[in-house]
Amino acid sequence: MKTTIKAYGAADSKADLKPMDIERRTCGDDDVKIDITYCGVCHSDIHTVRNDWKNSKYPVVPGHEIIGRVTKVGKNVTKFRKDDLVGVGCMVDSCQQCSACKEDLEQFCEKGMVGTYNGRDVHLGGHTFGGYSTAVVVNKEFVLRIPENIDPKGAAPLLCAGITTWSPLRAWKVKKGDKVGVIGLGGLGHMGVKFANALGAHVVMITTSPDKAKDAKALGAHEVLISKNAEDMKAHRNSFDFILNTIPVGHEMDPYIGLLKRDATMVLVGAVEPLKPFHGGGLIGGRKRIAGSLIGGIKETQEMLDFCGEHNIVSDIEVIDMKDINDAYERIIDADVKYRFVIDMASLKN
Ligand code: NAP
Ligand code: ZN
Repeated sequence: MKTTIKAYGAADSKADLKPMDIERRTCGDDDVKIDITYCGVCHSDIHTVRNDWKNSKYPVVPGHEIIGRVTKVGKNVTKFRKDDLVGVGCMVDSCQQCSACKEDLEQFCEKGMVGTYNGRDVHLGGHTFGGYSTAVVVNKEFVLRIPENIDPKGAAPLLCAGITTWSPLRAWKVKKGDKVGVIGLGGLGHMGVKFANALGAHVVMITTSPDKAKDAKALGAHEVLISKNAEDMKAHRNSFDFILNTIPVGHEMDPYIGLLKRDATMVLVGAVEPLKPFHGGGLIGGRKRIAGSLIGGIKETQEMLDFCGEHNIVSDIEVIDMKDINDAYERIIDADVKYRFVIDMASLKN
């Protein structure tokens, strides 16, 4: 059983996004049906539309920063009710049985988590379609509660940009007084700055864009380091306790490794592709570490959302109409977004 709804998607890797119809399953016993009001625009949406990671299935209907109101719940759903304000992030299912799922790390499900888009759709066959659409039906275990006191538009990016930066800051136990670098002031980076600041760290925004310095400070950075300036980079050598690297493409690693203190870690969340070769001596010389991190589990995502409710943290966003999505993609590629686009889904419904 299914219904046809409106969406926006790409027919192939070279195509612009255009209106299209997609099918959603009807709300099952364990499901929550959500009327989508806002959806954030992640750089991963662009990577998927353009097949940068060589695993895209078409048509691609992106969107994994979903905010909406519950319109229906299945009979086994007790946690959510009609009209609740809810969110859906990057995952809509996992096996719920393996050791990763049992440790609330569904993103590392040993059978493979089901992505909100481009994942395997076990209900309707084919692949999943994301939040650039009017409605979605999601298993209750993958629905998040959004605090009612925060702006729902600004909350949308918390579902991906928020949890992706929160999770490594928590996993590496960033604490008051730590010197934390955040590389790249885009959707992820601006949330990284806000969270590191809220956790009491001394935050340094590491950016290629000198014109973003003022904004970085307003977002919570204590210092701004222009990565293209060799003198500045030298002044910060061997001084960081932790660095969060959100650069979306392969890049030189040595300059950033040089910034880490002895025993400190740089966590990559951006580049899912080959990195430029780097010198082993840079790590060996200071027992330094490079690690990676992937979104966060559902329990941790709810904790992050609750923290945002308590501290009134949301993303800084530009709201766009659905039809403006292709222009927004170009601006994201040009690192010209302040600091996350969010689609007002009323513009697709009307
Ligand atoms: P974004 O909004 O485009 O921000 C990326 C920022 O990185 C840019 O604004 C720019 O900041 C900087 N940058 C871009 N190209 C660069 C280059 N060649 N060298 C140095 N800096 C560069 O992207 P986003 O949505 O934050 O996503 C960032 C990456 O994380 C994407 O690859 C995305 O797919 C990935 N991602 C990963 C996860 C995960 O779970 N690991 C989750 C979501 C997204 P400045 O102007 O400040 O330099
Ligand atoms: Zn994302």
